[in-house]
Amino acid sequence: MPQVIGVDVGGTGIKGLVVNEAGVVRVEATCATEARLGRKAILGQLCELVSELLSRCEEVKALGIASAGRVNVETGEVIHATNNLPGWQGMPLTQWATAEFGLPSTADNDANAALLGEAWLGTGRGKQNLVMLTLGTGVGGANMAFGRMLRGVDWRGGDWGHSVLVPDGRPCNCGKRGCVEQYISGSALMRLAREQKGNTYTHGREIMTAARQGEAIALYILERYISDLASVIANISASIDPELIILGGGVTHDQAIWWPMLTAKLSSVGLADRVAVAEFGNWAGCFGAAQLALEHLRKDGVGWSEGSDREETKHGD
Ligand SMILES: [Zn+2]
Repeated sequence: MPQVIGVDVGGTGIKGLVVNEAGVVRVEATCATEARLGRKAILGQLCELVSELLSRCEEVKALGIASAGRVNVETGEVIHATNNLPGWQGMPLTQWATAEFGLPSTADNDANAALLGEAWLGTGRGKQNLVMLTLGTGVGGANMAFGRMLRGVDWRGGDWGHSVLVPDGRPCNCGKRGCVEQYISGSALMRLAREQKGNTYTHGREIMTAARQGEAIALYILERYISDLASVIANISASIDPELIILGGGVTHDQAIWWPMLTAKLSSVGLADRVAVAEFGNWAGCFGAAQLALEHLRKDGVGWSEGSDREETKHGD
């Protein structure tokens, strides 16, 4: 059974794993990203991580890369990236990876990859109409309809983070105002906290802990945050009406306290059973990247090992 590597390059870390076609993980590795140091530093760390995985696991047939930013899946190039990853825009990811590791390589946006991962093995398993929202430093999004990713003509499909929630609202780093990202990202949650007097929360987890202990100010912050999140979910449902909207990213690590708030708001519009938390958390992108690599192998009929049970299929195609 062929094994592939799936890696996920984000603003604060790189993760990677080796997985087989059945979704069984052989090895995994992580490293912190010094993203602010620019392209060369990120590539150096990516190279180290992939080399480590390759040294720990032989017989890897392909590599899939999930990356922050907008990715042209046909060329494997990052066509747009924010300052979270300086110098990343224009990076020919798959070309670089193929030359560096000698493996067939493929790349996609990290939210698209997270949705692919959750659809393959996680919360979205068995469903074909899905939306993913990743609530982290920013807000990533992805759409799947009838089992196919809707990446769009300019590869920005599913970018719910930069749809507008509040006209003339908060300025966004994309140049517009009032984007969803400015209200439901982890960073937005922390800004809500900073705007309220009487707290010294420095991390989202402190807000969650305080809310669990019944602190009024933490509960107020969460109520406001959840209210905006519920509006976004309702807008997505009105737009494409998926079977499930999967929520991932750092904010969902502590969902125990706010999940009942969210489902209470959504039940009033009949959507309480249309949301779920990602099963793989921050690892979903790696599984999705691996799934892309497997698809790439199947499509091109390359990389199947001698005597593999797929060999027959490949020649028969
Ligand atoms: Zn924006």
